[in-house]
Amino acid sequence: MQALESETTEALVAEIHALKQERGAAILAHNYQRPEIQDLADVVADSLQMARRATVLDAPVLVICGVHFMAESAAIANPDKQVLIPDLDAGCSLAATIQAKDVRAWRATHPGGVVVAYVNTAAQVKAESDYCCTSGNAVSVIRALPPGVPVLFLPDFFLGSYLKRVTGREMDIWMGECHVHAGMTHETLEERRNQYPDAEFLVHPECGCVTSAMYYAEAEGDVAAGRMQIVSTEQMMRRARSSRKRRFIVATETGVLHRLRRENPDKEFVAAAESAECRYMKLITLKKLRDSLLYLQHEVTVPPPIASRARRAIDRMLAIG
Ligand code: SF4
Repeated sequence: MQALESETTEALVAEIHALKQERGAAILAHNYQRPEIQDLADVVADSLQMARRATVLDAPVLVICGVHFMAESAAIANPDKQVLIPDLDAGCSLAATIQAKDVRAWRATHPGGVVVAYVNTAAQVKAESDYCCTSGNAVSVIRALPPGVPVLFLPDFFLGSYLKRVTGREMDIWMGECHVHAGMTHETLEERRNQYPDAEFLVHPECGCVTSAMYYAEAEGDVAAGRMQIVSTEQMMRRARSSRKRRFIVATETGVLHRLRRENPDKEFVAAAESAECRYMKLITLKKLRDSLLYLQHEVTVPPPIASRARRAIDRMLAIG
């Protein structure tokens, strides 16, 4: 199939469907993807669910419409499948703040220490870590650590500070943050609270972009007072359906609003910060997805020794819940 000279959205979508069939491929899109990518994906989910769902899909080719560490996680979980990402530049500013050598340097000065890595990390960093965690299970992972040993939490400063406060566990926290944080300040959240006093606040901490919102909400007592729900994507979708509220302030990357609005046309969803947009996620376009399927590019692989060590950290996390 040849690339078209001038391409309409309809033509690209038709071509993607045909190529997907031809390749036996499945498309997995992160919740932060552009609406048109979400609309033609087989799976729309958070990073952990993307990796999990990929293992049960009967498809030899997986196209990951997300950022690079997500494609690595899919490759680790699916060693027999070909994993593609439509744009190799789709990285993550949070994951990029730490390298494997930084973890080794911390270990050298903290013998017997334990390293907990948030999912937003490269496979090389996960391989150097003892436990992996998501925002959803980070509290359980920290509480399950052996007492009295030094702990390094990486790479998200806001999530680490939140965990320290909630669990009372002393730990070193890597000073990494996601660029999307810039739009999710204490002032922005306060402004939205005043602007929409009748609205329910939904915070979706899947990614580093909203861990600052978790941090501020906990400090303000919003969580304890029940004014703010900290929820996973699926919980957010359920909550939006079942809540009697008609209006919601959604603290997350703006891509999640697409599904909320599509599934709840009679309710209003307002972004906590319109500027909370991940430019790396938005690098994936229909044209790049088409090219990925057409040329089977760009393949993401993780060397087996790194994959097996990274998998150990992920499995320990899953054992905790
Ligand atoms: S929103 Fe931030 S943490 Fe999430 S993928 Fe983008 S850069 Fe990384």
